Amino acid sequence: MIKFDEFGPEKIFEVYNPRANMHGFVVIDNLNLGVSKGGIRMTPTVSIEEVSKLARTMTWKNAMADIPFGGAKAGIIADDRQISKEKKKELIETFAKAIKPICPSLYIAGPDMNTSEIEMGWFAKANGNKKSCTGKPKEMGGLPHELGSTGFGVHHAVLIAAKYKKIDIKNSSFVVEGFGNVGWFVCKYLTMKGAKLVGVSDSKGSIYNKDGINFERLCNIKDHTGSVINYDDAEKHSSSDIIKLKADILVTAAIPDLIKADDVNNINAKIIVEGSNIPMTPDIEEALYRKNILVVPDFIANAGGVISSYVETINGTPEKMFKIVEQKIAKNVDLVLINSLKKKIKPRDAALEIAQSRVRKACKI
Ligand code: NAD
Repeated sequence: MIKFDEFGPEKIFEVYNPRANMHGFVVIDNLNLGVSKGGIRMTPTVSIEEVSKLARTMTWKNAMADIPFGGAKAGIIADDRQISKEKKKELIETFAKAIKPICPSLYIAGPDMNTSEIEMGWFAKANGNKKSCTGKPKEMGGLPHELGSTGFGVHHAVLIAAKYKKIDIKNSSFVVEGFGNVGWFVCKYLTMKGAKLVGVSDSKGSIYNKDGINFERLCNIKDHTGSVINYDDAEKHSSSDIIKLKADILVTAAIPDLIKADDVNNINAKIIVEGSNIPMTPDIEEALYRKNILVVPDFIANAGGVISSYVETINGTPEKMFKIVEQKIAKNVDLVLINSLKKKIKPRDAALEIAQSRVRKACKI
């Protein structure tokens, strides 16, 4: 069931092309702050309900990031692993043409699950307007997510959170769940700042060395063997054990629901920064808050990707993008943590208050 409330969803579009057997939708949650923005996911099970929840998260994420976008999300029903590249291209192209009446006037697309810069290139060409999506290849004036904007932003969220916990980043240790696009860049930038990487995981397992893991050697091993667990000089653990490893900072950067209610007493970190989406429920965040563990919520910490999308719409360079991601993430995380302290509420509640008040204020204007 789709839930409607004072914020939206404002518009729901469902499109079907019988010739291509393309079935997709766009949910525009809220347009108060500007044209709506959110990625297109392609999965066999994607539904209007799922997309409408994700569109709401985009409303808060864009408002919190302080960029002139409303919230939206799109879906195309297809099994990415079962179809050929040609079929995928046809689905993306027919979808781009079908939603042309609203794109980019009301909705700007972007990459999400199973869509990346290649698909965004196909989308923009079929739509006929480069402004119809972001995350396009460089040659088309795009700023692909592969530049690492999200991980770069997550590392800035860590730096601000560390200040609040009075942790000197140069004397700190950190572990990262996931070594993909987000996790890899978090490891790179935090290591550059002098923090010690002591643990990392991927789908095959976790590794831990309290004396530190060499980032470059780790990258080499991951590239050549396919997994971080083949790093020689470290203890081996299961993937899910990453949350129990001893470190000042835990960054999540892979799966949803990583931290379960039973894990609350087993967490060693003083700070958790949510690079991944929904790594735990708000109830678990509340329990951690009561244990004085600082959790920086996903929709603030991992907004680097959507901030990069905004910079792409104003034709910014990668240099400009990194600068704006840094400024916005640092300022917004700071604002949320000040409010959380002042009001004695957990950071997610403080962030939601700010995002909602920005959306309401824009409505009045
Ligand atoms: P990715 O596919 O590049 O990397 C995912 C990594 O997680 C891989 O290293 C994979 O081996 C690992 N992994 C899979 N199962 C695991 C498990 N059980 N335990 C530990 N590691 C596991 O994905 P990504 O782009 O880095 O995204 C990671 C998370 O961040 C997702 O939740 C995504 O929604 C979120 N996110 C990504 C972006 C972005 O710009 N890439 C933006 C916002 C949010």
